[in-house]
Amino acid sequence: MTFALRIPGYGVANVKSTPLAYIKMMRPQDILTPQPAGLACKPGGFHIDPVRPVERAVITHGHSDHARAGHGAVLATQETLDMMRLRYGENFARSTQAIKYGEELRLGDVTIKLHPAGHVLGSAQVSVTCNSTRIVASGDYKDAPDPTCAPFEVVPCDVFITEATFGLPVFRHGDAADEVKKLLASVDLFPERAHLVGAYSLGKAQRVIALLRAACYDAPIYLHGAMEKITHYYQSRGIALGELRPVKGMKKADLAGTITLAPPSATSDVWTRRFPDPVTAFASGWMRVRARARQGGVELPLVISDHADWDGLTATIKATNAGEIWVTHGQEDALVHWCKTQGLSARPLDLVGYGDEDSGEGDVQASDESGEA
Ligand SMILES: [Zn+2]
Repeated sequence: MTFALRIPGYGVANVKSTPLAYIKMMRPQDILTPQPAGLACKPGGFHIDPVRPVERAVITHGHSDHARAGHGAVLATQETLDMMRLRYGENFARSTQAIKYGEELRLGDVTIKLHPAGHVLGSAQVSVTCNSTRIVASGDYKDAPDPTCAPFEVVPCDVFITEATFGLPVFRHGDAADEVKKLLASVDLFPERAHLVGAYSLGKAQRVIALLRAACYDAPIYLHGAMEKITHYYQSRGIALGELRPVKGMKKADLAGTITLAPPSATSDVWTRRFPDPVTAFASGWMRVRARARQGGVELPLVISDHADWDGLTATIKATNAGEIWVTHGQEDALVHWCKTQGLSARPLDLVGYGDEDSGEGDVQASDESGEA
């Protein structure tokens, strides 16, 4: 006779009714263990999104705090591998293997599968199953609609590892389409001025463009040089973004009444002098915090985020039906506390090196990529 056994901190297993059988079960923390290099799966012989070079890496998505160069073997979706290649060059890893969403792969003693995370093109949650315990590492995710990537998929599991970038009840992002309407209203209101939208170049910029198109804005959209490569890559994967033009070489007067997407750091430097009296916008979940927008000199804050907000995080945690929640990068404490009030076992993971959150400042690479929000 077998029965399903749920032991707090140990996951669920179908256990034969011998009294000692469950002692052989692997605890979730033996399956995935936080280490300085990142989340290590010893029984599978790999790390997830390692921050230091490792032998085998499984990468959730292309943002530079998750996808780093210098690993031995890298397993990820085709899109994530392509983005790493675009950023780091052909030799970013010794070998690569693409895996599709839903495809099952045996690695050592575990089985892994990738599922859409709804964060950016190619982004994936990693489901790791060992014996009968399933842990899902979500990477960064959002449950809000986004025409530029596959929608987030809820994966039932025993342990869910959630991010907590916006893990405070104050963060409610609202509808991104309404934010884009604000931008278009401003363009109508100030036809003699240029609109400069600060947006991280991987994911956010393409989403803003797609939202503008969905709102029937069909004029050409201008791009800062730093976003051209990745945006054209999105187009090559079949994401419709309409007519895009490089802003380079444009006459100042001809940019009146236009919209240009640029990395956040570019919107506050001398580069903006090429635009006629620019209105500076910034698309980020942080724009919910007015002080933050003011500090950054943002005239038109747009609350558009590639991360789940508080409602998204808590709804997703419930939907996974996981009995145990591990919380990482962001506002861990509040989310851990909320989980406990729901009767769930929860703890912060204390991983370092991810999304050390965007202040929108610093060098282009850091503010443009690793601090996406
Ligand atoms: Zn990310």
